Order: sequence, then structure tokens, then C-alpha cells
Amino acid sequence: MPQAVLERAAADMLSWQGCGMGVMEMSHRGKEFGIILAKAEADLRKLLSIPAQFHVLFMQGGGIGENAIVPLNLSRGAAVDFVISGSWSQKSFKEAQRYCAPHQAASNAANGHTRLPDPAQWQLSADAAYVHVCSNETIHGVEFQELPDLAALGSRAPLVIDFSSHVASRPVDWSRVGLAFGGAQKNLGPAGLTLVVVREDLLGHALEICPSAFNYKTVADNQSMYNTPPTWGIYMAGLTFSWLLEQEEGDLQGIAAIEARNIAKAALLYGFIDSSDFYSNKVAPDCRSRMNVPFFLADESRNAAFLAGANERGLLQLKGHKSVGGMRASIYNAMPLAGVQALVDYMREFERSSA
Ligand SMILES: *Cc1c(COP(=O)(O)O)cnc(C)c1O
Repeated sequence: MPQAVLERAAADMLSWQGCGMGVMEMSHRGKEFGIILAKAEADLRKLLSIPAQFHVLFMQGGGIGENAIVPLNLSRGAAVDFVISGSWSQKSFKEAQRYCAPHQAASNAANGHTRLPDPAQWQLSADAAYVHVCSNETIHGVEFQELPDLAALGSRAPLVIDFSSHVASRPVDWSRVGLAFGGAQKNLGPAGLTLVVVREDLLGHALEICPSAFNYKTVADNQSMYNTPPTWGIYMAGLTFSWLLEQEEGDLQGIAAIEARNIAKAALLYGFIDSSDFYSNKVAPDCRSRMNVPFFLADESRNAAFLAGANERGLLQLKGHKSVGGMRASIYNAMPLAGVQALVDYMREFERSSA
């Protein structure tokens, strides 16, 4: 979380803008929360340039919940194409089997999820209800630098992206997207809020068994208030959106500024890793994630010592996901360049001390 956002929330904790209630104490149907919700949506639309024909839904259930909610709403029980690029898309593919007929259109499992499957080789179905991709694979550290243009690949299906772990880190080309979903906890705010951005024409086709609270049309028709929305999460995400809109980097502002910063952060860390024989990252350079950087020590017997030394310096949560091993630095929007520099300085020092 950006420090400025946490400080702002702390100042308003007991009494939001002097109204006498904290956000957690408000009725979601009250005037105050109505203002918070409307501003969060307006700021997000501005930040990500979301076109008018898309609905912004503030939901619950997380990214994993959406693995069921998307097929319940969009699949019509028919064929759906999945591009397997790492653990998260694999998980989505598996869950969808309960609700539709998922088809694996491409997979990079053979190269250990270190390179995205080339869109030109995808085996897209003629009649898919949608095509699912995970636009940033959090665990394997592979990211689409450009979203696939399905129309150019001969598919008429809408593209669904799981952008949980890089939402608001870069612009989104909405002309290529039908639906985007993401849990808020990586880049937007606290856990508990799920963001869905869905094109108008995709609403209204849910399966009969779809729970009402997870029916996109019901949620959209009720401005995310069919059931009580995660009010605290929406408030915190709203503060984050307005913080993002204010960011500047040279002549750049908002999403362009945060993207420039993310590019600089990633270049610093990958540049150092590539310059060293002691550390390595196995992902093809043009597929590397700007947000999640998995890396390995050449001598893995030094892993515990590396993590202990990092902890002493306040460099936390660097242990890699158990399915991949090694280390992983998640350098989300709120991580400043100075934080990445501190990591690189420590890595250099650890390498020297290990020689
Ligand atoms: C973290 C993450 C999720 C998580 O889902 P939750 O249900 O919120 O735990 C889903 N997809 C991706 C790509 C993620 O990084």
C-alpha cells in the first residue's frame, strides 16, 4: 500500500471527513458511502480510461472466485479457450471444468512457464464463448507486454483477462478486452474486494445455477449494491486510485507515470540479476513481469542465509512460491524505486560476502 494512502486512511479512521463515523461504521446505503463509491468508480474510469460501454463492478470472492463466476456468467455452458501460461491460468482452466467445456488452446508447460505461448500458434476454437488469459502470471513471473488481438487471430470470442497482479500498473487496451477481473490485494488495496470490468453486451447470459450475488447483470443493475459490497476495500481502493492519478514522473501523469516507474524498477532488478553469475531469472526477456520477479541463487544451499540477511534489513517476503522455489520479489505499484535499489544493494553485498 502507498504510505500516503495508509496515512490518509488512519486520519479518517474514526471519523470520515468529520462526519462522526468511520467508513467501517457506515451504512452502505448512506449518503457518505454513496460518495465514496461514486468517486472510486469515477477515478478508476479516469485512471484506466475505461470506455462507457464497460461496467465497473465491485465484488467479492477474489480472483479464485472469478474462476467460477466468469464461466457461470459468460460460458453458456459451451466451449471456452484457455491459454495456459502459468499456475494461475492452469487453476482457472481446472475450475472452469465444473461449468463449461474448457479447451486448452495453448500451453507453455513444456518450457516450465518461462515464455508465453506465441499467439500465432494458439489453437482457438471456432465457437468459443470466450478466451481466457492470465495477463500477469504472479508465480512464474511472465507478463503479456501486449494483449492478444483475438480478431486478428481469427477468433470472434471476447477476451477475458485475469489482471489481478498487474492491474493499474500499466494502461489496458480495452479494444481487445471483453472482461477483466482482479483481486484488489496486490495493487489496489486490502484483500476482500474483487474488481470486474465487463463490456455491456456480455451481461445477461448467466447460467441458471449462477448465484444472484455473482450474476454480473444483477450486480451491474444494482451499481454493485445488490448485496453489501466490501465497503472498506472500496474505500481503500478509491484512495489508491486517487493517489495513482496524482503520480507524476517527468512529464507523465497517472497511469503513464506509474508505468514509467514500474519499467525503471523492473529494469534495475533484472539488469542486476542478468549482470551477475550468482543470481538468475529464467524467463525470456520479452515475457518478464514488471511486477513479480522470481530469481534463483546459483548455490541454493545459501537460500536460508540470503533470506535471513534480507529480513534483518527489512527486505521482507522474498521467499519464492513453493511450486517454483528460489526467491521472488513482488515489486507492485506501491514499492518505490528506492525499495528496489535497497534490494539490489543487499543482493550485491550478499554475493560478495559469499565469494
Ligand atoms: C493473487 C492472484 C489471484 C488470487 O485470487 P484470490 O482469490 O484473491 O486469492 C488470482 N489470479 C492471479 C493472477 C493472482 O495473482
